[in-house]
Amino acid sequence: MIIAKQSLSLLLNTGRTIKQGISMEAEGKFSPSYADAVARIELNEEDMKEIGISDGSLVEVISEEGVVRVKAFKSKEVERGHAYIPMGPWANMVVDPRTMSLGMPNYKYTRVEVRPAEGEPTSLPEILAHYGASVPTEWMEDVKLVEGPQRTYENMVCPFCGELCDYLKFEVVGNEIRKVVGGCANSVSKLRNYHRHRIMRPLIREDGRFREVPLEEALEAAADILASSKYPLLFGWSSTANEAIRTGVELAEILRGVIDNTSVICHGPTALGAQEVGTARSTLGVVRHKADYVVMWGSNPPASHQNHFPLWIFSKGRWVKGRKDRKVVVIDVRETPAARLADEFVKVEPGKDYELITALRMAVKDLDIELPSVAGVPIDTIYRLADEMRSARYGVIFEGMGVTMTGAKHRNIEELIKLAHDLNEWTRFVLIPMRGHYNVTGSDNVFLWTTGYPFGIDFSRGYPRMIPGVTTSPDLLMRGEVDAALIVASDPAAHLPKRAVEHLSRIPVITMDPKWSLTAAISKVVIPTGMVGVECGGTVYRLDEVPLRIRSIFPPPPGVLCDEEILRRLLDMVKARRGYS
Ligand code: SF4
Repeated sequence: MIIAKQSLSLLLNTGRTIKQGISMEAEGKFSPSYADAVARIELNEEDMKEIGISDGSLVEVISEEGVVRVKAFKSKEVERGHAYIPMGPWANMVVDPRTMSLGMPNYKYTRVEVRPAEGEPTSLPEILAHYGASVPTEWMEDVKLVEGPQRTYENMVCPFCGELCDYLKFEVVGNEIRKVVGGCANSVSKLRNYHRHRIMRPLIREDGRFREVPLEEALEAAADILASSKYPLLFGWSSTANEAIRTGVELAEILRGVIDNTSVICHGPTALGAQEVGTARSTLGVVRHKADYVVMWGSNPPASHQNHFPLWIFSKGRWVKGRKDRKVVVIDVRETPAARLADEFVKVEPGKDYELITALRMAVKDLDIELPSVAGVPIDTIYRLADEMRSARYGVIFEGMGVTMTGAKHRNIEELIKLAHDLNEWTRFVLIPMRGHYNVTGSDNVFLWTTGYPFGIDFSRGYPRMIPGVTTSPDLLMRGEVDAALIVASDPAAHLPKRAVEHLSRIPVITMDPKWSLTAAISKVVIPTGMVGVECGGTVYRLDEVPLRIRSIFPPPPGVLCDEEILRRLLDMVKARRGYS
């Protein structure tokens, strides 16, 4: 008789999934479908047998940070000894929050114990109760759909991920988007449901309950909080337009606070790597027309950027006839859907990307590697890959969060950039980051051109400075250093580790967002905003740093303004309170 173990010690990874994106946009973060998509742990079947559980069993996941109960499911993509929870409030109850002086918590490879449990999965109301808040059901509204003429809008930009697909067709009746042509599942979910689960009125929370207030009163309350704060954090900015971000930078400077964007928890290491060694970039258009060798490193576009392969990699270009003329190599720790679409999958040992990149650089330089394998990859494969890369007419490395978040983080990216530099002695090779939120590249760029730094910018001394691990938002929150926060178009309460959210829940938070989020639920002041790409326009940057105009097709709901206008009014109020003319 086999006696099941009591528990397993596993390494927990987090990441994006298609279901997470679709459920979040279609039904919202407070829906059962979002909980189904995110409150789950994926395990290797053999590991599940060891503790006597099957698909759908309830387990307790325990780390040094906390405990969460989720349902377990078997996954062929998860290795023995590992576990996977999609990014979100459940994963964040247990992830390792340490940033190792880089600003980014350890979303990969948190040591956890997993054991069978009884009862129900941890619910979102339980998580919110931990932060002293509740689900704001009574304040969730849909924009009223009204009948009207049928119209078609061509060449629309998708406001979901960094690809910013700019060829979509919206078919509209009245103020309803009935059809989105050319968009992927995430895009269709967001756009067809733009009107659902909206914040429609300004609110102030007192004694745990929201009360509706006129916009002017909400702005006055927000300005009072910010102007009386000693060291406020202004966070988010990756899901709004550049014009609003520029105003946010001015506000942060006047307040002598910190402005930070979501790069800090995704591609911050890419920015830091580029600051150390420069970069080698091109646009996606050049890749489509010229690249005959494509490396996807730690990136899984079928889950995160669904149009990436069909539009840029598998399509016909001017000098590349199509899919058969390109070699696609996926380098990752697990065989992802992207790996199954590639010509070759190279499996790297978890956390060993840096070693493999260094070995590839040695092979490119014809240096001897005195080991049979590096990071789990045989030496013969490494030399062959290096040879193929040198022989390519035009090569590109797309780097994802599987390499920015793991092991050496920014050192991985430095080394990848150096690999591209080395290869440029032989041929043309570029590196492009697979940025997540649709304008996270824009927020990095606006921060850069206004302050010289891409994220985590502190104005407390009257001039901008950035010290990763010191002026970055997860660290500032976990150390309890900021005393107020303005959150724009972002949901840090759903995406930062528990310890950071605990501090956020203790300080006055102002949230500006079109839709309800966990952060809005824990906020003191909630200000509704128009949705960029549907109700508000502006400038946004694609992941390859190409600026695009994003258009609006409907006005925001009555009484609701776009981010830029709200921020301008807030800036004027704060200036008046701080004595600026
Ligand atoms: S790939 Fe990204 S930008 Fe393109 S349609 Fe899908 S979600 Fe939108």
